[in-house]
Amino acid sequence: MKIHAIQTGTVQVKRHQQVGKGKGIMRLLNVLFGKEWSDPLPIYAWLIEHPEGLILVDTGETAQVHSPGYFISGHPYFEYAVRLEVKPEDEIDQQLIKLGFTAKDVDTVVLTHLHTDHAGGLHHFAHCAIYATNAEYEAAKGKLGLLNGYPSHRWPDWFNPTFINLKDRGQGPFSEVEFLTKATDVMIVPTPGHTAHHVSVLVVTDEVSYLLAGDTSYSQDLLLDGVVDGVSANVDQAVATLAAIKAYARLHPTVYLPSHDPDAAARLMQNSVLPVSP
Ligand SMILES: [Zn+2]
Repeated sequence: MKIHAIQTGTVQVKRHQQVGKGKGIMRLLNVLFGKEWSDPLPIYAWLIEHPEGLILVDTGETAQVHSPGYFISGHPYFEYAVRLEVKPEDEIDQQLIKLGFTAKDVDTVVLTHLHTDHAGGLHHFAHCAIYATNAEYEAAKGKLGLLNGYPSHRWPDWFNPTFINLKDRGQGPFSEVEFLTKATDVMIVPTPGHTAHHVSVLVVTDEVSYLLAGDTSYSQDLLLDGVVDGVSANVDQAVATLAAIKAYARLHPTVYLPSHDPDAAARLMQNSVLPVSP
């Protein structure tokens, strides 16, 4: 089994999106109107080369974000709080070719959540099962979804996700999981916070586990410090998720791979595990 980090362009967000500040609505206002920007951060998707097939976690961003009408005009988040940079060659289909595959070779796609920088490459995967949570899909679709910052009007017409079925399957700190492989070594785990129904993908090997963590935090240090981002609607839920990840990593050495951490690809290469004491 092999995991590949695939960078599909960069994103800059406000410092107070990475590190939430204030309470309630102030957290969002600090994201929208904060003056300090992050550096350009990678937008990672992850390819799991598994004996049972190719599993892609998130589809990255699309160069279509630079075309008129991709985002509804006047939406304050896209107006004031995010800067995306994606070239056509950064898109997931081109990156898969560089790795010796094509988009058609992918058997399964899992979306940690439906924000555009995770679902932007959806249109390349008409042929395969695409897993998302029912509740995330409901929050993202239609007019309400557009207001919530999901450009769902740009989803392909055929997009009809396979809903994730999380159940208690006795897997430790993550009370509910859904297995993606018969070998039960790749599973979807609930990591709510950044969005209310956000999920991550856990890959278990004899040596270490890998958590393909979406936007649970913007870096490993922010996870270790228990820092909740500025867009999580329910801070307590996000704190509990960060604690669950650390609890899992105390039991099983874990390489933590969030989507926008500049150090994530290096940690994957070096099998560098979360420094939590048992
Ligand atoms: Zn997100």
